[in-house]
Amino acid sequence: MSLSLSILASGSAGNCSVLRGEGGTILIDCGIGPRTAAQRMTELGVDSREVCAICLTHLDRDHFNPNWVRQIIRQGILVFCHEHRMDDLAALAGGEEEFVNLIRTFNGKPFSPSDGIELHAIRFAHDELGSHGFVIEGFGGRIGYATDLGHASAELVRRFRGVDVLAIESNYDPDMQLNSDRPAFLKRRIMGGKGHLSNAEALAAVRQILDQAEQQGQSLPGHIVLLHRSRQCNCPKLLRELFSADHRIRERLVLAEQNRPTPWLSARQRPVFRQLELHWA
Ligand SMILES: [Zn+2]
Repeated sequence: MSLSLSILASGSAGNCSVLRGEGGTILIDCGIGPRTAAQRMTELGVDSREVCAICLTHLDRDHFNPNWVRQIIRQGILVFCHEHRMDDLAALAGGEEEFVNLIRTFNGKPFSPSDGIELHAIRFAHDELGSHGFVIEGFGGRIGYATDLGHASAELVRRFRGVDVLAIESNYDPDMQLNSDRPAFLKRRIMGGKGHLSNAEALAAVRQILDQAEQQGQSLPGHIVLLHRSRQCNCPKLLRELFSADHRIRERLVLAEQNRPTPWLSARQRPVFRQLELHWA
């Protein structure tokens, strides 16, 4: 079995992705309720009772829904968060001992939430307390996962080059953001380099990652997934047009949705387009 990812839900109403390898099923964030997540996993052929770990990017409510606390305790799911957020996570569960015993922390070192899968955390500027993205490695595949990242650093580009699946936030269109009826402080928070990535910023980051991979002779990702699209300040049609201008992205593009899961995106699977191109060449 190869390492596979599906985005179960993505957007400000809740973020949750599922990772599957031989060793077990892992969630990245649990910002939708456990029942909704279970239904979407069933659609993908996964039993939610197989979830053995949840890795948290940060603790905003759209990434950690406290309705999970009971489920986590019942199922004995390990919950991984950055070491600086351990007390905050415990507080979200009212300090309940059974929950606190299931918390595991990560810092600068790689960690393994289940057999054969290793995560390397990358720190992002996001609001006061920051957020983390992950390079996920296992079963011969690599996935880059970055949401709520403020801005794309040179480190992010370097660490994500050569991944098999590239999942990155593309949150808003700047004109739609500026013209929205949102309060000025919120617009500043989102657009100020410590909030979310705009479409143009996400596109620039993806292109840099692809350029560097090509320069290094590494393969390009099989899938490029855009996460955390704002419902109010973005538009799927606009995103497709913008990203499809680069033919390398067009043939790999997947838009994550708030209300339905993406198909399984395999970290080993390569699109057939390459072969077709060769065939017609
Ligand atoms: Zn978020």
